[in-house]
Amino acid sequence: MEKRRGGHRGDGTIVRATCPSCGDVELTVPDLAAIVCATTDEGSYAFQCPSCQLAVVKPAESHVIDLLASAGVRLSVFELPAELEEFHDGPSFTHDDLLAFHDRLQQDDWFAEVEALVAGSEQR
Ligand SMILES: [Zn+2]
Repeated sequence: MEKRRGGHRGDGTIVRATCPSCGDVELTVPDLAAIVCATTDEGSYAFQCPSCQLAVVKPAESHVIDLLASAGVRLSVFELPAELEEFHDGPSFTHDDLLAFHDRLQQDDWFAEVEALVAGSEQR
């Protein structure tokens, strides 16, 4: 990726990026989005190819993210869900479990069972 004519935020800045199908394409600042995961500090940028309309996402090092952000590219920061840090034990969820869950949801009293489970866990 290469940025030309920097300086102003947005107006006139052309960013050259590579589409896997079309090769080098030229984009303007509003065509791009920069994404950073605050948990891992990994970044990426995304665009829709102006030629073939393919959605392209590429990893980017922090200096590239900084460059894009300074040019006015929309920056989104997210964190990985805390559930990834949870300890899990017991058997893995299987396709049979999924089918049983689906069958259970077809019965009219499934929500009462959920309420009873929640009530039970609140009494601990
Ligand atoms: Zn393309």
